[in-house]
Amino acid sequence: MSKHHLDTICVQGGYTPGNGEPRQMPIIQSTTFKYATSEDMGKLFDLEASGYFYSRLQNPTCDMVAKKICQLEGGTAAMLTSSGQAANFFALFNICSCGDHIVASSSIYGGTFNLILTTMKKMGVEATFVSPDCTEAELNAAFKENTKAVFGETIANPALTVLDIERFAKCAHAHGVPLIVDNTFATPVNCRPFQWGADIVTHSTTKYIDGHGVTVGGAIVDSGNFDWMAHAEKFPGLCTPDESYHGIVYAEKFGKEGAFITKCTSQLMRDLGSTQSAQNAFYLNLGLESLHVRMARHCENGQAVAEFLHDHPKVQKVSYCGLPDDPYYERARKYLPHGSCGVVSFELKGGRKAAEAFMKQLKLAAIETHVADARTCCLNPATSTHRQMTDEQLVAAGVPAGLVRISCGLENKADLIADLKQALEAIE
Ligand SMILES: *Cc1c(COP(=O)(O)O)cnc(C)c1O
Repeated sequence: MSKHHLDTICVQGGYTPGNGEPRQMPIIQSTTFKYATSEDMGKLFDLEASGYFYSRLQNPTCDMVAKKICQLEGGTAAMLTSSGQAANFFALFNICSCGDHIVASSSIYGGTFNLILTTMKKMGVEATFVSPDCTEAELNAAFKENTKAVFGETIANPALTVLDIERFAKCAHAHGVPLIVDNTFATPVNCRPFQWGADIVTHSTTKYIDGHGVTVGGAIVDSGNFDWMAHAEKFPGLCTPDESYHGIVYAEKFGKEGAFITKCTSQLMRDLGSTQSAQNAFYLNLGLESLHVRMARHCENGQAVAEFLHDHPKVQKVSYCGLPDDPYYERARKYLPHGSCGVVSFELKGGRKAAEAFMKQLKLAAIETHVADARTCCLNPATSTHRQMTDEQLVAAGVPAGLVRISCGLENKADLIADLKQALEAIE
């Protein structure tokens, strides 16, 4: 299946029914699985045989969907998680523990920023944040003896910066650590970070992969390219015996292709339990079946809306990497040649007052904190997610009071533009 085009994998990847079996992916709604002998089950517990025993660790429906995402990204192994937050935490915590350090792009999702800056810090993992546009020298200077991973987002939510994946990957590798890329906004349809040297990819599947605002979920995919054993002193969790699994050395037993995901499943999922439900994985697969069709429309609408806003007299500034005067236009041509996503952000000239009048007037675009949905939605951070901040603090944080983020859905672009046009007219 993975030899097919992405479109075909979206529709048919991950599950191939045998003779007389269900055409649609079955939902295996079972916590547990039956075995004839204790010996059979013992082999599973020892990771001597592959199979299912408890859905906290693995479930067949979840695995089929993970397999499809794995094929889409061009990886060797993948797993689903209960949320995008869990995916990023597991991907990092699988190789970083107390006393370690992470280099992360400063332009990332707020939830991930908090996770790294506050919660992982409490676990003894420190981080250094660098601008996605930092110089080579600045990037190199961020590394320490105990650095274990580099983290960034292909297209950052909400800043819409584009990561120079190839440059970050080269630098990470020169320091003997993997690059983890959150590919949520681009999706594998528009960017496959492994092609540019990324080692691990994560997703909040809650966004475009689901695409209908139905399920919160996440995924982790391994490229199978990072040689853990070549840097064994940095990654004892993968390269020395796991006493909680009878002394298994993951990197030896499962190789470059399987070590990362096997450890993440059999150790972190077992102990921390942030599993996706089979029912949610089924919904996720329905979204995946049309991902390639939907992304093209999200991008078409995003581009049309960005161009319309760009030329509007009441708009101060538009951020969208598909606009030729956007600072990320050239980088996007390299990494996102078929389009980026449907999210556009723009600043209204009249600040807070203008944003309030504009938001009130919208008819089609709903006010939501969500993004990457079939239905267009809009958010003014100053009056919602960032409402505790003063106008001065908002400017310092890069989210001025007049900033609006619009996530273009799958509607007709003329209707979306007409809605924005009439709302802009309402601003005095
Ligand atoms: C939403 C989001 C997350 C968090 O995902 P949840 O599914 O909400 O937990 C992480 N990264 C990015 C880029 C996101 O947009």
